[in-house]
Amino acid sequence: MTSTTCQCRCGAVSLVLTGAPVAQLYCHCDDCQNAHRAAYAPAAIFPKEQVQVSRGELTPLVIRSTKRMVCSQCGTYLFSELERVGMRSVSAYLLPKGTFRPQFHVQCDEALLPVLDDLPHYRRFPANFGGAEEFVDW
Ligand SMILES: [Zn+2]
Ligand SMILES: [Zn+2]
Repeated sequence: MTSTTCQCRCGAVSLVLTGAPVAQLYCHCDDCQNAHRAAYAPAAIFPKEQVQVSRGELTPLVIRSTKRMVCSQCGTYLFSELERVGMRSVSAYLLPKGTFRPQFHVQCDEALLPVLDDLPHYRRFPANFGGAEEFVDW
């Protein structure tokens, strides 16, 4: 399997991502809004064992319930732990340019604003992520 190395903004932390993500998406939940200080967040979901920290120190950051790991030095948000499904949600800002290919939007019920594109806009999550196949009307 191919692997990709990505780094936080200061370079102290390196992550090695192995293989392809199981999904790439935009999340609109208010937890992501706070973590990214943005309207919504790009994420690449990998099985936990395919996301390894090869260098540097991480600090956990919990806003409500999701455990997010940030660089201990520069605070760059790296990934969150999706413990119930054994996955890690990697901040897609870290991916090499051109490799983020979003497939759908999740948590659109909490969206700050509609994002009008041709992707599916799930109210919460798709069925294979434990949600219902329900969509918002934008
Ligand atoms: Zn850093
Ligand atoms: Zn979110």
